[in-house]
Amino acid sequence: MIAENLQQVKSTLKAGVSLVAVSKFHPAEAIKEAYDAGQRVFGESHVQELVAKEEVLPKDIEWHFIGHLQTNKVKYMAPFVSLIHSMDSMKLMKEINKQGQKCGRVIDVLLQIHVAAEETKFGFTPEEVVEMLNDGEWRTLEYVRIVGLMAMATNTDDEARIGREFESVAQLFDVLKGHFFADQPSFKELSMGMSGDYLIAQTHGSTMVRVGSKIFGERDYSSQP
Ligand SMILES: *Cc1c(COP(=O)(O)O)cnc(C)c1O
Repeated sequence: MIAENLQQVKSTLKAGVSLVAVSKFHPAEAIKEAYDAGQRVFGESHVQELVAKEEVLPKDIEWHFIGHLQTNKVKYMAPFVSLIHSMDSMKLMKEINKQGQKCGRVIDVLLQIHVAAEETKFGFTPEEVVEMLNDGEWRTLEYVRIVGLMAMATNTDDEARIGREFESVAQLFDVLKGHFFADQPSFKELSMGMSGDYLIAQTHGSTMVRVGSKIFGERDYSSQP
């Protein structure tokens, strides 16, 4: 079932769009099934769960962290995480830098942008992100590399609205690329789109979609570690 779902989702991806299989709340066996079907990139949103799965699953998995990240938890994933999608404050960026330095590795991150209506979603507003980048301190953090933006759209059936939100992030990406990352080819990722809206996100420049339930089925929150 998981292999079929994975195949189905992959068949709907535009060329150049990569797939993060969001495995939060699903057991390691489910991840192994997707792994055996060829998937190597997985996304988790809780640090403890991520660390537990990393220990028991194959070492060539690329683990992405997509949930809200507290500074005191960065150290647990710093040795192996391949991309943190949810970088949402300078304080967090400094901590990721510190932990990256300790491990002797540069940690890739995306700047999370808040465009959705819900207050519960984290991230920089477009104004805040420009202010943070203008300040320039980020340039001194040698163990963190900003490789793009991440955003979530409002949870709504209004597809036009979702499209406008994704489009605003895509435009912000272009502006930031031109102003701050023109000489950095590594600034190229736009992580937008989940099971319900990745097809829309793809038409607005997403390069990376984060799809969970369409691959693994509904999440069983009662099995939360
Ligand atoms: C859970 C989650 C997803 C995947 O959601 P689905 O609707 O199951 O595809 C994507 N992005 C983030 C940030 C998430 O927390």
